[in-house]
Amino acid sequence: MFITEAEVRSALTYDALIPGIRQALVDYSAGRVDQPPRMVMRAGNAEGHRNGWFAVMPVIAGDVMAVKTVTFYPANDELGLHTHMATVELLRRSTGEPLAIMDGRLITEMRTAAVSAVALDVLAGADVRSLGILGSGVQARSHLKALRMVRPGLSDIRIWSRTKENANRLANEVGARAMTMEQAAAADVVLTVTSAATPILEGRWLAPHALVIAVGATGATMRELDDEVMSSSFVVAECKAAAERESGDVRLSGTSVDAEIGAIASGTAVSPKGKRIVFKSVGMAIEDLTAARLVWQTRASESK
Ligand code: NDP
Repeated sequence: MFITEAEVRSALTYDALIPGIRQALVDYSAGRVDQPPRMVMRAGNAEGHRNGWFAVMPVIAGDVMAVKTVTFYPANDELGLHTHMATVELLRRSTGEPLAIMDGRLITEMRTAAVSAVALDVLAGADVRSLGILGSGVQARSHLKALRMVRPGLSDIRIWSRTKENANRLANEVGARAMTMEQAAAADVVLTVTSAATPILEGRWLAPHALVIAVGATGATMRELDDEVMSSSFVVAECKAAAERESGDVRLSGTSVDAEIGAIASGTAVSPKGKRIVFKSVGMAIEDLTAARLVWQTRASESK
């Protein structure tokens, strides 16, 4: 069974995905998920080929297994193509039967925002009001939907993007205000969702109590956050080993991960109150499996 992006869209909701991802992150930190490091290959290392990467992400959890293949070509927007594309295969663990193959682009978009929504719910107070977003692409849009679901009181939304027209367009679409980077960075919650390769967010702009949700800069040599952001914060990740291996923001600042979000969500670790926190996500296969399983279950129940 191949499930198209349109079919994924009609089957997957944040209402189901956010609690599913929360449980998946708890299970991961409790050692109930079998997930090796993803394999990443450079696609642009031969003459005449565009600069991009290709990753393979396998995982086994509960009664299913999954593998996602995903590509990231930052310059694809010049061609009018998505910068990220993916496919997810879901298999039955007890027999190895393939259950479904589905488009993974929207799954990547939605599961990443759902992970950040869990982080916001677990790490931020109930009273956060302002959200500064650096970036205005696919992840900026999906995050706005998911973050507002766990903190509907977020009323002061500030948007900065490298291309001012893109910031203005998104701000108009979602009832937010386009601002300078410094103004966006002074919010209670700061979300970084850019394809920047060198730091754009500076620690000196942040509030002492800020929660930074850092999603972009996926790669061991890429960064969105400067050294001060990292060194002044308690650092939380989906997986300590993965963030310390795959995040340039962690590696190149010489910091380490203080706690995993799943451990904080389950109460086996604690996050400091009133101190600056960085949640750095790199994306994990268990998140794709969780979304794919929800899509498959919904479609299977609809066809009965
Ligand atoms: P899009 O291509 O849709 O948007 C990219 C955004 O980055 C645009 O707002 C663009 O700004 C901005 N941008 C690009 N280059 C720069 C730069 N040099 N400096 C500042 N801003 C820049 O990408 P997505 O929204 O899909 O992804 C955003 C980031 O999130 C990527 O780095 C991606 O790899 C990462 N990601 C992380 C995941 C995770 O699990 N942690 C999962 C999926 C994606 P403008 O258009 O205004 O020029």
